[in-house]
Amino acid sequence: MSDQEFTRTLGYANAAFDLLKRSGIPPYPQFYELLYTYATGVNPSLNNRINTIFRSGTVPSADLAETLYNEFLKSDVNDRMSSVSERMHARIEAVHEAIDSAMTTANAYSGSLQSATGDLERDLSGDDMRLLATRLLSETRRMQDTNRQLEIKLEASREDIAALQRDLDDVRRESMLDSLTKIANRKSFDEGLEDAIREADKSRGPLSLILLDIDHFKNFNDTYGHQTGDQVLRLVAMTLKSNIKGKDLAARYGGEEFVAVLPSTDLEGAVIVAENVRKAIQAKELLKRSTNEKLGRITASFGVATFNSSDNAMSFIERADRCLYAAKHAGRNRVVSETELVEIDEIPAKGVSAA
Ligand code: GH3
Ligand code: MG
Ligand code: MG
Repeated sequence: MSDQEFTRTLGYANAAFDLLKRSGIPPYPQFYELLYTYATGVNPSLNNRINTIFRSGTVPSADLAETLYNEFLKSDVNDRMSSVSERMHARIEAVHEAIDSAMTTANAYSGSLQSATGDLERDLSGDDMRLLATRLLSETRRMQDTNRQLEIKLEASREDIAALQRDLDDVRRESMLDSLTKIANRKSFDEGLEDAIREADKSRGPLSLILLDIDHFKNFNDTYGHQTGDQVLRLVAMTLKSNIKGKDLAARYGGEEFVAVLPSTDLEGAVIVAENVRKAIQAKELLKRSTNEKLGRITASFGVATFNSSDNAMSFIERADRCLYAAKHAGRNRVVSETELVEIDEIPAKGVSAA
């Protein structure tokens, strides 16, 4: 975590605590998490709901915390993960029981065989022999039955476990996606970037990063509503994704920020990609689905950095972020790469003449 990120996160935490204290809300962990999310502003629908509650003047109860938590924060992926895990447990239990019961029968059978061996060592009459054979036969049948049942149960388990495996794979895949835009989420970006850095270190090939932030998106939301804002986020995600290829990774970095990791791509190549995305976003005329109302256009600003041998993930992202900040500062709707950043950094301060 960078110092900047630490300060920002601490700011959200303090804001959440402040709200808890000021509104007399019971400081349940769920309320804290809800108010922390509120402070970040990443979930506008949650913020609208909480604002309505604050405005109404009612002090929220634990029940309300639970309802809001389930509606806004509880992840479907977690639920499904628990369900898969419960089914897995039940299945394993059933297999254990079947094996236990087969073992009990097998032990009894082995006992019978042992006593039959003892009997056979003595001289047996023809009738005793028949009795022994009948007993062994019935014990053997019982053993066969138990084995068949075990086989059936194991076969059922095999199918069930294969289905569970598929469910688990689905859940795992979903847990790597952003639920709104369906492109990679922050977690997959973090992992993907680490992989790409390892690969670039090994191959000594180039690796670049594009950071994108939608311009004046708050205004857009305020004017047209968050649901329309969400549609725009989906559109931007798709535009970014359709402009990259192969091993490239497009992800939602947070709120209205997106990122692309471009392995085997140098700075110049990454700037071209960023420019393509920028033009493609700007070219889209937005229409409100329900009413066909024209909503104009949106633009985005871009920061582009390329990996160097002294970088780690954090310094790499920070440089792209500084470029993005410079792009915003220079008027938005533009791409700034790290070479321009160096030029900006090197501009002598006003009034200081070069020696
Ligand atoms: P700038 O050009 O400086 O980036 O201005 P901005 O308004 O885009 O930036 P700011 O960071 O002030 O606001 C980001 C806004 O993005 C806040 C919030 O309304 C919106 N936002 C973040 N996440 C979501 C989301 O999931 N859905 C919607 N609809 N809006 C979101
Ligand atoms: Mg932003
Ligand atoms: Mg923005």
